[in-house]
Amino acid sequence: MTATTDSTTTVFTGRCYCGATTVRTTQAPQTIAYCHCIDCRRWTSAPVAAFAAFDEKVVTFAPNEGRHITANPGVTRTFCATCGSPLTGRYDYLPGQVYIGVSIFDQSSDLEPKIHTHESERLSWLHIDDDLERISSSGRSKINEASK
Ligand SMILES: [Zn+2]
Ligand SMILES: [Zn+2]
Repeated sequence: MTATTDSTTTVFTGRCYCGATTVRTTQAPQTIAYCHCIDCRRWTSAPVAAFAAFDEKVVTFAPNEGRHITANPGVTRTFCATCGSPLTGRYDYLPGQVYIGVSIFDQSSDLEPKIHTHESERLSWLHIDDDLERISSSGRSKINEASK
């Protein structure tokens, strides 16, 4: 699938709040999803999270991915060691994939979500007017379907 991709081509660039950590990817995300779950909302402190899912092989952080934290079994997240900005999420059931919040990217406006996940945990006062599919689970299979 990636055989013809030039691995030196930067597709997306981004940085944390303070700028100490930067990120670049050499491919577009596999999918982009809103997540309404309480875990992601607490992690980002936002009313809804939006993540781009990448093959971890195409993502490079400098100087590194930050500090690691596991507060819930099976989920590892990292944050900038200097400013605390959320950087990545990794899920044991999605090996090889890394989730990065769309808002740390310079090209956030090009990273439009394709699906709402954990819709059942959506804050009742949050209304996003779109026609995207809404699922109550993590949609681990649906997420990859939606990226086609
Ligand atoms: Zn979530
Ligand atoms: Zn920072």
